[in-house]
Amino acid sequence: MRAFDYARPASLAEALLDARQALAADPPATPAFLAGGTTLLDLMKLDVLRPGRIVDLGALRQEFGQIRPDRDALHLGAFARMAEVAAHPGVNAAYPVIAQSLALAASAQLRNMATLGGNVLQRTRCAYFRDPSWRACNRRTPGSGCAALDGANRGHAVLGASDACIATYPGDFAQALVALEASVVIAGARGRREIPFATLHRRPGTTPHLETGLQPGEIIAGFVVPARPWTRRSRYLKIRDRQSYEFAVASAAVALDLDGETVRDVRIALGGLASVPWRAHEAEDALRGRRLDEASAQAAAQAAFSGAVPRAHNAFKIPLGQATLVRALLEVKSMEITQ
Ligand SMILES: Cc1cc2nc3c(=O)[nH]c(=O)nc-3n(C[C@H](O)[C@H](O)[C@H](O)COP(=O)(O)OP(=O)(O)OC[C@H]3O[C@@H](n4cnc5c(N)ncnc54)[C@H](O)[C@@H]3O)c2cc1C
Ligand code: SF4
Repeated sequence: MRAFDYARPASLAEALLDARQALAADPPATPAFLAGGTTLLDLMKLDVLRPGRIVDLGALRQEFGQIRPDRDALHLGAFARMAEVAAHPGVNAAYPVIAQSLALAASAQLRNMATLGGNVLQRTRCAYFRDPSWRACNRRTPGSGCAALDGANRGHAVLGASDACIATYPGDFAQALVALEASVVIAGARGRREIPFATLHRRPGTTPHLETGLQPGEIIAGFVVPARPWTRRSRYLKIRDRQSYEFAVASAAVALDLDGETVRDVRIALGGLASVPWRAHEAEDALRGRRLDEASAQAAAQAAFSGAVPRAHNAFKIPLGQATLVRALLEVKSMEITQ
């Protein structure tokens, strides 16, 4: 690992100031924020990330570590740990898809350390991105090419990719946030702003190195998940190569509002299959107003993948993703709901 400066500010204001000063220095340095460190330190050891300055945000946990379900929304601090949120009774009862997406991620040790903010900002697991001995990676080195296009791309995206990058967004929690139409609260030099979480991650297009809409020096403070008629009847289904401690090959976050057996409304996000946490609008449109059964779930799954683009080794992800969505929809339909 390379040498770096280290700061541990005592407050959000101090952290923002530290970042601002680093960016204004001559030469400027983009600081890396340290939360749980479970992604950042890995990537520094691999020499993929080489920050000159680490700003440790550990002291912000006091102020931004809340887990607060109230009548209208669930308020989550960015520094709440994954394990705490996954185990919270109020989250499990009223926002099960959130709790499940976190409980099924990583390992118990990682979930005890990792934070919600760090989780949504984790980087792709594309092996070429994580190994700098591969020169061609547009996400790591803009303009260098993409080794995965003609390489081993079994784990790569079939939705939302581009010829510049076909990497998959790896996390789980983000799908739950997208399905429940959460917003993310961002703090920066000009104060706070709240934006739809679904707009945080950028599709790769021609600039895959620009992964989110965060400005340099901005800090995620938290998430707000609105309570809606579909949040209680929600589920996260994760399919992976082994049953634990593994990223999704395909996943579905589904939230349903039913009138008897008819879909009054539905929210769907897919994971493991796309370049960003993927809202499946076409599938939702195919279901709204229809009786939910095997046939309508299959039709929705077909619609979800109508724009999918397979590569040499990942065509299996299309039928797998469809089967995952069908199973998730039918399982959510049969959930027992307690008020
Ligand atoms: C072996 C392994 C298996 C894993 N499996 C899964 C899995 O199945 N599913 C899954 O979802 N995840 C998985 N993960 C990823 C894991 O969940 C993330 O490493 C973790 O959530 C990151 O959180 P952190 O607090 O440790 O982030 P850090 O490593 O501290 O930070 C990650 C990034 O976010 C930035 N950052 C952190 N917090 C903020 C903030 N508040 N504002 C602005 N920037 C910030 C950091 O600068 C850094 O760039 C796995 C990780 C490992 C190592
Ligand atoms: S898929 Fe993206 S992350 Fe992987 S090598 Fe290509 S450009 Fe890099």
